[in-house]
Amino acid sequence: MRKVDFILPASFSRNDVARFLQKWLIVDGNITYADDINEALMRANQSNRDVLLAFEEKLECFDLKYFFDESKGVTSRAMTYEINAGQKLYWPQMGESLLPEEFHDGFALKNIFYFASNKKPFLPSVNRLIPIPVHKNSLQSTRKYPALFLDRDGIINEDVGYLHKVADLKIFPDIIPIIKRANQKNVLVIVLTNQSGVARGMFTEEDVKMINLALNEQLKDKGVYLDAFYYSLFFESGKIETFKKKSLLRKPLPGLLMQATFDFPINIHRSFMIGDKPSDQLNMPGLRSLIVKGNYNLSELDSYVGNLKEVHEHLRNELY
Ligand SMILES: [Mg+2]
Repeated sequence: MRKVDFILPASFSRNDVARFLQKWLIVDGNITYADDINEALMRANQSNRDVLLAFEEKLECFDLKYFFDESKGVTSRAMTYEINAGQKLYWPQMGESLLPEEFHDGFALKNIFYFASNKKPFLPSVNRLIPIPVHKNSLQSTRKYPALFLDRDGIINEDVGYLHKVADLKIFPDIIPIIKRANQKNVLVIVLTNQSGVARGMFTEEDVKMINLALNEQLKDKGVYLDAFYYSLFFESGKIETFKKKSLLRKPLPGLLMQATFDFPINIHRSFMIGDKPSDQLNMPGLRSLIVKGNYNLSELDSYVGNLKEVHEHLRNELY
């Protein structure tokens, strides 16, 4: 069982804490109480375990599974939703002030912070910590399903470099059984793809849609289907003004995945992301990734798999 130190405000009632722990038996750890944030941070830095700091009245709201990443260390992350700019998301800088608790775009920022033990020491003041956001929908208790998140180029089809012509679309035969099994087992199959070629001025969003459509059709012909596509057109150093931006939608930031979780009842903790670049490891606590050796250098990764057959075998053991 995962060992975590909980550091909670001294004002929390013992009943709340007891209910909280009863619900989340997946974790084991010490609970200590702190009178103020400075004391809480001091304790957190002294602990040699992962630490969860909470400053929230209703502990039951948290889906703790979101915060435990078995595969790599994570620190507290946050995001805001720029309402006036449509679907544009961004990471606030550390040091930006804490944001209001709830947003009418559907996010709720919860004053909870999770730190992997290998990411210490923590910042010295709560004003420089950023709470992890959750979507309000995720606070309701509904049944959730695992998802298989797939990168597109290099995983479903050959990565020919900025693919934008249907004639160049070549589906890997070994991806078919992977998707088929997911289709059979009620695992959502969702494509998350960076298409910075649009920001770079190499092709248009229409081209992206056309390829996705063709991909869908060709997969249907092979007896499998995708549940959804989410794509990012942004690239900070691009040419096209509209998309020449840092965006939370660009992997490895998790905006695309967040969008998927608004549209589908997804249990992140039971899901997998499959990709062929280090950036396909999304910054999303709880989500497991398998990165496949293809055209890209993976030397920065602790581990990766050799091919799609190995992915299938792994998923058969761990997902379906
Ligand atoms: Mg790829």
